[in-house]
Amino acid sequence: MSVRVRFAPSPTGPLHIGGVRTALYNYLFAKKHGGSFVLRIEDTDQSRYVSGAEDYIHDALEWMGIVPDESSKKMGAAGPYRQSERKALYIKHIELLLGSGNAYIAFDSPEELNTLRKDAERKGDAFIYNWKNRDRLQNSIALGDKETQERLSKGDPYVIRFRAYTSAEAQVLTLHDEVRGAVEIHVPLLDDKILVKQDGMPTYHLANVVDDHLMEITHVIRGEEWLPSMALHVLLYKAFGWVPPAFAHVPLILKPSGKGKLSKRDGAKLGFPVFPLTWDKETPGFKENGYLPGALTNYLALLGWNPGGQKELFSLKEIIDSFSLENITKSGGRFDPDRCKWFNQQVLHASAAKSLVPTLEKELYKRGIDAAGISLIDVVKLIQGRLTLLTDIWPEAEFFFVPPKSYDEKDVNKLWKEDTSEILTAISGLLGNTAAQSDEEIRALIKSWATENAVGLGKIMAPLRIALVGGMRGPDVFAVCSILGVAACVDRIKNATIHISL
Ligand code: GLU
Repeated sequence: MSVRVRFAPSPTGPLHIGGVRTALYNYLFAKKHGGSFVLRIEDTDQSRYVSGAEDYIHDALEWMGIVPDESSKKMGAAGPYRQSERKALYIKHIELLLGSGNAYIAFDSPEELNTLRKDAERKGDAFIYNWKNRDRLQNSIALGDKETQERLSKGDPYVIRFRAYTSAEAQVLTLHDEVRGAVEIHVPLLDDKILVKQDGMPTYHLANVVDDHLMEITHVIRGEEWLPSMALHVLLYKAFGWVPPAFAHVPLILKPSGKGKLSKRDGAKLGFPVFPLTWDKETPGFKENGYLPGALTNYLALLGWNPGGQKELFSLKEIIDSFSLENITKSGGRFDPDRCKWFNQQVLHASAAKSLVPTLEKELYKRGIDAAGISLIDVVKLIQGRLTLLTDIWPEAEFFFVPPKSYDEKDVNKLWKEDTSEILTAISGLLGNTAAQSDEEIRALIKSWATENAVGLGKIMAPLRIALVGGMRGPDVFAVCSILGVAACVDRIKNATIHISL
C-alpha cells in the first residue's frame, strides 16, 4: 500500500510555523516513501472560519516548496478536500454508528450538563458523560426507543455521542505512537465525546476519522496537542470496523526561553516572524522579512527531528532522503530566532548569485532607479557574503546606485586629513586617465601611485571609501571602484572633496 499522509489545518487564521512544520514533516515522509501529500481543509466549525485563511495556507505551502499532491486546488480521487463539502459522508457514517450501537442520541441541554458539572465540582468530583452515568441521563440508551422517537418528533434538540466504553470491555488499551512508542490508555476514563453537534455538523473527531479513512491515509502525522485524541480516534476506527492508520505526534515548538509553546503572538511581541507570510501588521512573515524558503525548511526540519551526525545544512532533497519518523524528537524544540537567521545567512551565501539578482531588480524598480552601466550580477557577487536576510540587499547595494548625499561625520572627522582632498584629487586624475577596469588593475594603479609619491595606502583607501560610499562601510573599495566604473568614481571624488571641504 502506498504511503498517504495529510495536513489538515482549520482555516481559522494564518498558519503559524508550528503548523508549517507539521505540514513539512508530512511532506517529507510522503516524498521519502514515494507517497502522496494531501491537504484537507477542516472547516466544519463555521464560527471560527476566517476568510482568506484557506488561500493563505495554499500560498504559504507553495512558497515553502511543499506543495500538496491533492488539495482543493488540485483535485484527486479522494476529494472533495474541504470538509464543508463532505457533510453527506459524515451523516452516512454517523448512521452506521447509531445502527451498530456505537453512538447514541443525547438530549441533555448545555445548561443541564453545566449544573451536573457544578454539582460534581462542589463534591470535589468531576462530571464525565460516560458509562458511569449515561444510563441515568437524557439519551437514547437511558430513554429507550419509544421515548427517543417521541422527543425527536417533537423536535427536541440533540447531539450524537460516541459510546466510548461499556464495563464489558477491556479497560486498558495499548496504542502505538511512532514518536513516543507505547501509550497506555485507561478506557473507562474517556468521555462519550460529541460526534454530531446540535446544528447537525460533525465535530472534528468524527469528520477527521471518516476522512482519514476515506482518503486512505496511512500515517497521521500531527502536533502533540492531538495526542489525547488518539485513543478516541482509534476507538472510532474500531467501531467502524476499520484498521487505524499509524500515528506520529510531533513535539511542540517552544518559545525562545524554552518556557511554553511558541504562540502566534510571540512573533510581534519578541520581534521575529512566526508566520511564513505576512498576514497583517501583527503577524510579520518570514518571506517579507527576507528569509529564504530553503533556509526555513532546513531550520524547521531540525527543530524536532534529529538526523544524527554533525551536518546541519541540508537541501530539501537531502532532508527527504534522511527523514524518518523514528528520528523525530520526543521533547519540544526551542525556537531560536538567531539560529534561524544563521541558517538563512548560510543558505544565502551558498545561493547562486544569479538567483538574487531579481530581488535587487525589484528594489531598483520600486524606487524608479535606472541601474544603467552597473552590472547587477557583479554587485550581488560582491555583497552576497555580507547578507543575512534577503532584505539586507538594498541597504548593502544602495550606494552603487545612489551616490552619497552626505558623509558620515564621525568617519570624516577621524579620517579626512588636511592633505586628503589633494591626495584624492590626484587619484581622481589618475582614474580619469586610465583604461583600468578590473579591481586588480585599479588596485595596482593606485598602489604604484602611492609608492611613487610616498603616500601610505591607508591615507588613500579610507577617504576614497568615504567619497564613494559615504562612510566606512561596504566591501573592498577597489571592487567598488571597478563596478562603479572609473568615470563615476571621478565624479564621486569630486563631489566629496567639494562637500567635505565646505
Ligand atoms: N484540524 C486539526 C487542526 O487544526 C487537525 C488535527 C489533525 O491533524 O488531526 O490542527
